[in-house]
Amino acid sequence: MAFKSKIFILVFILFIGCMQPESSRVDFALGTVCSITLFDQGLDSIYNEIFARIHEIESLMSVNIPSSDISRINKAAGIEPVQVHKDTFMVIERAVYFAELSGGAFDPTVGPLVSLWGINRDEPRVPSQDEIDAVLPLINWRNIKLDSQTSSVYLTQKGMALDLGSIAKGYAADEAAAIIRKAGIERAIVDLGGNIIMIGERKDKNPWRVGIQNPIEKRGAVIGVLQITEKTVVTSGIYERYFDKDGIRYHHIFDPSNGYPAKNGLLSATVVTDISMDADALSTILFVLGYEKRMVLFNYLPNTETIFVFQDNSIRTTDGVNFTVTDSTFFIKN
Ligand code: ADP
Ligand code: MG
Repeated sequence: MAFKSKIFILVFILFIGCMQPESSRVDFALGTVCSITLFDQGLDSIYNEIFARIHEIESLMSVNIPSSDISRINKAAGIEPVQVHKDTFMVIERAVYFAELSGGAFDPTVGPLVSLWGINRDEPRVPSQDEIDAVLPLINWRNIKLDSQTSSVYLTQKGMALDLGSIAKGYAADEAAAIIRKAGIERAIVDLGGNIIMIGERKDKNPWRVGIQNPIEKRGAVIGVLQITEKTVVTSGIYERYFDKDGIRYHHIFDPSNGYPAKNGLLSATVVTDISMDADALSTILFVLGYEKRMVLFNYLPNTETIFVFQDNSIRTTDGVNFTVTDSTFFIKN
């Protein structure tokens, strides 16, 4: 059983173009490689502030840190509400918003499924149908009770568990970008394991060029180039964490309706918008819902563009996307 995790992988999206970064800093946090590049003004003190903030968010929201807000909420499932930091509360509130918006395709209570499949550990496995059936009733965002007065969170059933793996990196990216903008830095790249925010534009005044990962090739192989200015780009795909068993590839984004990795002909779904936390949740939602059901969301979402990559190597983009295919085995089919 081959297992690939982000731990061994350095970059998710290639930045293309003749950029000469003055400096960048890379660190491991939130289960992934976090890279910040500040152009023109890469002050140590700003890097320190950004990474302190990213580590703070990790210490609040990671399921792997026993003292985190999320671990405390999970331990108290079915027992009592837990008071949490206002940031944690806000991210959970947003996750619940997206759970409702997506009709449960996105569900921050996927924790028991993530544990069952062992997808974030070194030894993932395919669970039996009985095991899946046993945890499915625990996956239900409606059983998250939020009390904004006391900033407390209660999971009503024992065994329930929150997992913010599909939204916390986006939030951390937004927070990193806020520090950068506040410091008056005009050009920067935030890349938290593929949650990208491109701040400003290139030195030659052209848009940034972001390569979109080929979902079936080695890391760094791109299928095309996206041109953007002042936007966030987030992709959910089959390649981020997966394992192969008996010729079948199992990945890490689950369909809460059946407990299996989402399967609808997609290799990846990319969202281009303004807020990275939203893009993070949306890319996961689109990957679970699939192309046909995408419109459910777009009635609610202004300034949001998408790139869908399908198993037959076709690509569909929305009209506002400036995307050029560079790998001739892929083709646009709009
Ligand atoms: P990545 O973390 O690779 O950037 P995503 O943002 O799509 O990809 O998040 C996937 C992670 O989110 C999984 O590892 C798991 O922790 C969690 N997750 C899996 N399925 C769902 C789902 N249907 N709804 C919400 N979170 C999910
Ligand atoms: Mg996501």
